[in-house]
Amino acid sequence: MSLTNRVMVALMLGIITGMIINQFQHPWVDVYIVKGAIEIISQIFMATLKVMVVPLVFVSLVTGTGSLKDIKKLGRIGAKTFICYTATTCLAIALALFFAELTNPGLGFNLTTPDAVELNHKMSVTQMLSSIFPSNPIESMAKGEMLQIIIFSILFGIGITMSKEKGDRVLSFFEDLNEVILNMVVYLIQFAPIGVFALLVKVFATQGLSAIIPMAKYFFTVLFVLFFHASIVYSGMLKIFAGLNPLTFIRKFKEVLVFAFSTASSNATIPLNLETVEHKMGVDKSVSSFVIPFGATINMDGTAIMQGVAVVFVAQAYGIPLGLSEYLMVILTATLASIGTAGVPAVGLVMLTMVFNQVGLPVEGIGLIIGVDRLLDMTRTCVNITGDAVVSCIVAKSENKLDINAYNNLN
Ligand code: ASP
Repeated sequence: MSLTNRVMVALMLGIITGMIINQFQHPWVDVYIVKGAIEIISQIFMATLKVMVVPLVFVSLVTGTGSLKDIKKLGRIGAKTFICYTATTCLAIALALFFAELTNPGLGFNLTTPDAVELNHKMSVTQMLSSIFPSNPIESMAKGEMLQIIIFSILFGIGITMSKEKGDRVLSFFEDLNEVILNMVVYLIQFAPIGVFALLVKVFATQGLSAIIPMAKYFFTVLFVLFFHASIVYSGMLKIFAGLNPLTFIRKFKEVLVFAFSTASSNATIPLNLETVEHKMGVDKSVSSFVIPFGATINMDGTAIMQGVAVVFVAQAYGIPLGLSEYLMVILTATLASIGTAGVPAVGLVMLTMVFNQVGLPVEGIGLIIGVDRLLDMTRTCVNITGDAVVSCIVAKSENKLDINAYNNLN
């Protein structure tokens, strides 16, 4: 069975088992099963996700920033691409926060915050800004201070770009390390069905059927914002910034979407995406060969959307109020998280723990959304790679490197 199917089966079994336990409340079951075995499995699964965060953020950001010297080489194309990518990601999160505030997905839950969580959302903006800068990187990593780790990683990456051959050697070591860490994530994700089962039993055993509605609301809010971003924002961008017909784009892009949906991996979709934008849309190789792989690495609008909705959902589920400074923090961290998210399945969920940490939300909240994450992962990957292709068309057009006849040719 494929991982997706196994996760779906685990999701169903988890919900059914949790509801049965909830219906036939029994002290023995509660003590030994729900608070015993199920709790242990959930804790272990959450720990395996959390343990990957610091290495993943550090290594992937060093690798990402370290390879930015390509951007310097590419000059104007590099700068335009980078601006488009970060601007669309910020917009994507803002949309996610806005729509999630409208649908209030987490309101049906009534969960209490685990004692261990320190809520740092009470911090003032001044404290927040000064706390971003690390004085001791090891301490930042030990405490899981994500923004400090990010700043340090970016500095490290800048150091690499300035160090010529020596920098190249360090970069290639970090690229290898990145591969190793990503494979650790891929390995751990194989156990997701067990984790999903345990986490859902826990939620439904304690919350009963009422948990279904908020989860469904979360799921559909994410889907809606993904669809909105892909259809309205991207189409608008194509039309306004490049004067291109968005319907032509969609007709030519269908196969890439199907591929991204089934693999849930931006990286795996790079070859097909490249071939489509070059041969079907007429984007010159000099643009696409940089913009598409670069986008698969740093541009994750779909992932950022999921993270924005998840923040509102979990904050509401735990009754934690979010103010303007938290929202700004979410936009900042989720944009950085999107840069640090590798284009492979489920990494967005691991990076979500970083966003939660930073805004002071309980990481346990991920347990509420993990059950439906696989399907959302497949869908958000489609948005992630669509963004890359749209930006490649816009940048190519602005550089006179788009063959407009090829773009418009529907045969
Ligand atoms: N699966 C996504 C991608 O490859 C990343 C994520 O959100 O997990 O684009």
